[in-house]
Amino acid sequence: MDYHALAERLLPGNYPELSSYESLYPPRNLPKGAEVTRLAPSPTGFIHLGNLFAAIANERIAHRSGGILYLRIEDTDLKRKVDGAVEAVIKALDYFDIRFDEGAEIGGDETYAPWYQRQRAEIYRAFVKHLIEEGRAYPCFCTAEELDALREEQTAHKEVPGYYGKYARCRDLSEEEIYRNLDAGKPFVIRLRSMGDPEVKHKFHDEIKGEITVPENDQDVVILKSDGIPTYHFAHAIDDHFMRTTLVIRGEEWLASLPIHIELFAALGFERPRYGHNCSLMKQDGETRRKLSKRKDPELSLEYYRKEGYYPRAVKIYMLTLLNSNFEEWYMKNPDAPLEEFKFTAAKMSKSGTLFDLDKLNDISKNELSKLSASDMAAFLKAWAMEFGTPAQQKYFGDGEKLSRVLTLCMGIGGKKRRKDFTTASQAMKFIEYFFERPAAHEEYRVEKDVRNGILRAFLQHYRDTDDAQTWFANVKAIAAEFGFAAEMKDYKAAPEAYRGSVADVAEVLRIATTGKANTPDLWSIQQILGEEEVRARISEEIKP
Ligand code: GLU
Repeated sequence: MDYHALAERLLPGNYPELSSYESLYPPRNLPKGAEVTRLAPSPTGFIHLGNLFAAIANERIAHRSGGILYLRIEDTDLKRKVDGAVEAVIKALDYFDIRFDEGAEIGGDETYAPWYQRQRAEIYRAFVKHLIEEGRAYPCFCTAEELDALREEQTAHKEVPGYYGKYARCRDLSEEEIYRNLDAGKPFVIRLRSMGDPEVKHKFHDEIKGEITVPENDQDVVILKSDGIPTYHFAHAIDDHFMRTTLVIRGEEWLASLPIHIELFAALGFERPRYGHNCSLMKQDGETRRKLSKRKDPELSLEYYRKEGYYPRAVKIYMLTLLNSNFEEWYMKNPDAPLEEFKFTAAKMSKSGTLFDLDKLNDISKNELSKLSASDMAAFLKAWAMEFGTPAQQKYFGDGEKLSRVLTLCMGIGGKKRRKDFTTASQAMKFIEYFFERPAAHEEYRVEKDVRNGILRAFLQHYRDTDDAQTWFANVKAIAAEFGFAAEMKDYKAAPEAYRGSVADVAEVLRIATTGKANTPDLWSIQQILGEEEVRARISEEIKP
C-alpha cells in the first residue's frame, strides 16, 4: 500500500518537518536534576482532592529540584471550554499555595505555549500524518453502532473489550476498500496500529509504586477523532514530550492507560517522562472502604475547603501526612516550620489506598488555627467572610479593636492554655456570632422559668460594668445563695440534696441569657466586651412573663 498517498488523502496539505518541532520546543535550559512537572486537568470545572494530592506532589518535586510546574488544559473531549473552569482550577490550587510557573491563563515562558490542547491541532496532525506514512496508523470507518455491537459480542464471549487483533476490522482493509469508503464520504477516525502483545509483560519503574509489571498494549486506540481533534492519549504524549516534561505524578486510575502511553511514546520516537502513580483516597463507610465519590462526598471537591474556610496550611499538612510516610515525624519535630522545608520525595509516597478522614483534618485544623495571633486570625476570617460570609458577618470587621478582643478571648490568647475551638472560618464566624448579633435562639435552660426570672432580675440589680471579675463572681455567688443554690461547689458536692443546684447552674442561666449558649469562654470577659447596655438589654429580654 502507498502509505504516503494515503496520508496525503487523509490529511492533505503541507505540514512542517517533524524535526522543526524539536527546535521550536527545545529542551529546557534548567540545571541538572531539575524536574519539569505538570498538572493536566480537563476543564470540567470540577477540581477535587485527588487533583490536590497530585498537585502538591508535582509542585513540591518541581520546586524542590529547581524545576518547573506548568498547567496544561486537556480540552480535547470538550466541545467547548466550560466558562471559568481554568480560572477555578488556578484559584482552587492557589488557596493551597500551589503556584504554576507557566501555563494556561498563567503565561510564563511562551516557548512551550499554547497550553490548551485545542490550540495545538496542527502539531498533533503532523504527527498523525507521519504515523500513517509509516504504516503505524490507519483510518477506521466503523460506525458507533458497529462498535457497540462489537462490544456486546466481546462481553457475551467474556473477551477483553476494545478494538484489537481480530476485532480490529479496519486494520487490514485493502487499499481499494479504504478509497471506496473515502470516495463515499464515510467519516473516519485514525487508529494506532498496535504492535504489542498483552501476554508480554515488562518491568516498569514507577516513581511511587516501585517496580511494577506492565503488559504490552494491543489496543488500536483512536489517536485522531473524526472531527480532526486528537484523543487525550495521543495529545498528552506529544505535549509531555514537547513541553519537556520529565516527571508525571498522577492518579493511579491512569495506570490502566500506561501500556497505551508506553506504546505511543515508542511509536512517536520520544523519550518517556518518568511516571509515578499515586494511590486513591479512600473513605471509611461503615465496614467498607470506598473511593471518595463526587455524588456522596462533598469533601471531595476542593471548592468545599474554600467555602467552609479550611485553613490552607492545615489541609496541606493533612495531605502531606497522607502523601509522604515520613512527613508526620518531621512535622512533630518542626510543628511551626514552613512546609516547604520538608524534603518531599516521590519514593516516600504511599503505594496503596489512603484513608481520608475529615475528623483528622479537623483536629489538625483546630491545632493549626490555635497557633495564630489575633491579627492573623482576623485576616484569615476576613478573607473568608468577604467572599463567603453574610453581610452581617462582613460587618464584624468594622470594629477591629472589638474583634481583636473577641478573638483574644475565644482563642485563649495570653491565658494559661490556648483554646482549640475553631475548626474552619465558617465555624469560627458562627462561634463568635453572639458578640456581634443578638442570639437568634437560646439553648435550653435547665432552671425553671420562675427561678430563672428571679436570677436574671437579681443580676440586673447588682450588675455593674466596672466590677472586676472577683466582684462580679461574688455577686453571682450571692444570687445563687439567695435562690437556694450552693455558692461553693464543694458544699454542693458534699450535700447535693440540700440545694436546688450549684453556682454553676446560676452562671449557666446568665450565660445562656447573654450568649444563647450553655458553653462559652469566660462570661465576665464576654460581658466586658459586649458592654453594659447590651448585656442589660439581652438579659431583660430573657425575663419571660
Ligand atoms: N487529563 C487527564 C486528567 O484529566 C490527565 C491525566 C494525566 O495526568 O496524564 O486527569
